[in-house]
Amino acid sequence: MQFGSDDLAKYTFLPQAGDFIRLQGVSISDLANQDYIKVIQRAEERVLQAIKDSKNVSSRIDERVVEILSFPVALMLVKSTKLDHLMGRYALAEAIRVETLLKQEKNPKVIEELFRSSLGLELEHSLQGTLPEFRIPISEYVKRSVQFHRDEWKLVNKVAGGGRVFLAQDDLIRLIREEIRSMILQRLKDIKVPKLPENLEQVVKRLIAIAPPPPRSAYTIINVRPEDYPPCVRHSLDMLEKGENVPHYGRFLMATYLLSVGKTVDDIVALFPKAPDFKQSVTRYQVEHLAGLKGGRTRYRVPSCSTLATNNFCFRDPVKCNVITSPLQYPSKISPIGMRVSGKEETRRGPASTKASPEPKERRKKRGWMKTQR
Ligand code: SF4
Repeated sequence: MQFGSDDLAKYTFLPQAGDFIRLQGVSISDLANQDYIKVIQRAEERVLQAIKDSKNVSSRIDERVVEILSFPVALMLVKSTKLDHLMGRYALAEAIRVETLLKQEKNPKVIEELFRSSLGLELEHSLQGTLPEFRIPISEYVKRSVQFHRDEWKLVNKVAGGGRVFLAQDDLIRLIREEIRSMILQRLKDIKVPKLPENLEQVVKRLIAIAPPPPRSAYTIINVRPEDYPPCVRHSLDMLEKGENVPHYGRFLMATYLLSVGKTVDDIVALFPKAPDFKQSVTRYQVEHLAGLKGGRTRYRVPSCSTLATNNFCFRDPVKCNVITSPLQYPSKISPIGMRVSGKEETRRGPASTKASPEPKERRKKRGWMKTQR
């Protein structure tokens, strides 16, 4: 199947949209021409929407050529600001826009082709009543669903057969938001921007003036040297620094560990604004819950090294991690507060009791902690 220009106007990140642009034969210097004023206005609008509200970005598929051309121009504008945090924000906004359009997509063949050409993933579909149902190879499903924490995403709770998992359109699309975001972010990182014409330079200056200030470095906020932290905690902090999506166990570890070494809820919440789908109120509630200040007023323990290894979140230092069983025993200048450094157990602190991690399944079902996504 070949994408039409209306498809490319919706899914502007597709390689086929690049082919379409090449056929138009537009060069950078052409963008100084008044003929392209709408393209530049739309490109600026795309970036402004990402700055103001990355969850609420519009599409203009009524003006197909403008929409297709404005995407690479927007990428050049963002890259030219040299603001890393704006790159992360823009990539997320575009990924959410694609996700919204894909969820509304009426032609299942477009979805199949998009998965095949941009993600290398072969889907099958059939109609269940009026709605399409997609089938995805089990291994591909598992690879992506591990980042979700609700029980509904577990393989045992899905219908599967013939080596494939059956998914409704919304679930299938939600599964790939992070991949689309990473793909757009990578394109932003790779792009080499030539000298821009004056009219585009003016847009870049306006964007820099309006962009929010960069979030402070995670290590500055918590006021320590990276080498003081165990590799697994450092890995979570590094991912946050780069605006990457820290998996569930990484967030749980980071929050419980930092609380254990005396950081406050405010310190920890302040680390998250670079996370792709950060929501302050949700993050605060979750950290307060782990600290024993909300819900059952139970403080959660730092997971053990074996639990972290089972969940693929151990990045063992061959020397310093050699004989330890908990990240709290990692040799460093910071000492855990309110617990035995050598021990497997924390002591009570304040009004909260302590609790083994992770949280029992039945409570996890009721509430999603340390996650900002479905
Ligand atoms: S051994 Fe423990 S402290 Fe070291 S990286 Fe693995 S989980 Fe972290």
